Amino acid sequence: MTTTKTAIITGASSGIGQATAKELASKGITVMLAARREERLKELQEDIEQNGGKAFYQVTDVTNVEEMEQLAKKTKEECGRIDILVNNAGLMPLSMINKRKIKEWDQMVDVNIKGVLYGIAAVLPYMEEQKSGHIINISSVAGHKVMPGSSVYSGTKYAVRAITEGLRQEMNASHNIRTTIISPGAVATELTETITDDDVLEAFKKQEMKPLDSENIAKSISYAVEQPEHVDVNEIIVRPTQQG
Ligand code: NDP
Repeated sequence: MTTTKTAIITGASSGIGQATAKELASKGITVMLAARREERLKELQEDIEQNGGKAFYQVTDVTNVEEMEQLAKKTKEECGRIDILVNNAGLMPLSMINKRKIKEWDQMVDVNIKGVLYGIAAVLPYMEEQKSGHIINISSVAGHKVMPGSSVYSGTKYAVRAITEGLRQEMNASHNIRTTIISPGAVATELTETITDDDVLEAFKKQEMKPLDSENIAKSISYAVEQPEHVDVNEIIVRPTQQG
């Protein structure tokens, strides 16, 4: 008997997370949708189920460790196992350091780094017991290169890559747990709406390139997921062709 795989996707209420949920569900994977905006999660669940997929949702703030533990517990209860975690929730309020947007720095550290760690902590006990699992963390091209305005955001995305690589070394061989870093370039989503620094917004407006669609990143995630169990795709970088 083949068992259906289960994936938890954080930040599933928009952009890359939403597209990934649809993509994985279309491949027969049961998806557990997590984010803070319930209405959007509910709509997505309905959409997936109307298209023949299976989806659950749980309103979750990734910065809250108890809510993340509850998300994993509910997934285990509803689906019987946790095969995949896509740590996708993120914020990108880019700004110049001398603007001293300390509250935005705190939010980025909380969501982009601590949220990823809480996700890992929540699912690891289940994956260790299963002796299998796949943790996919969304970093960025900004996790490979720093630009004016991206210092703190890049710091969080470099951290995501470091954490994922450490996790790989500790858990790959001993527990059969795969790790994948996805590093997208510019993707057309709501992510830039959190930018409040006028200088950064001005620079963004001058950029002329066709960005990626969320579906392009969802396909990369799906590629990593679909490999046989002995194949671990450690990192994928996907840039728009015209991105420098
Ligand atoms: P969106 O703004 O469209 O999506 C961000 C998601 O994160 C939303 O679903 C939001 O849901 C969720 N989120 C934010 N804060 C929290 C929180 N505290 N708890 C739970 N969920 C939260 O952006 P993208 O789809 O573009 O971003 C997805 C990931 O991709 C991010 O990690 C981002 O850094 C990364 N990325 C994006 C790029 C791009 O150009 N778009 C490029 C490189 C990387 P809700 O508000 O409902 O909680």
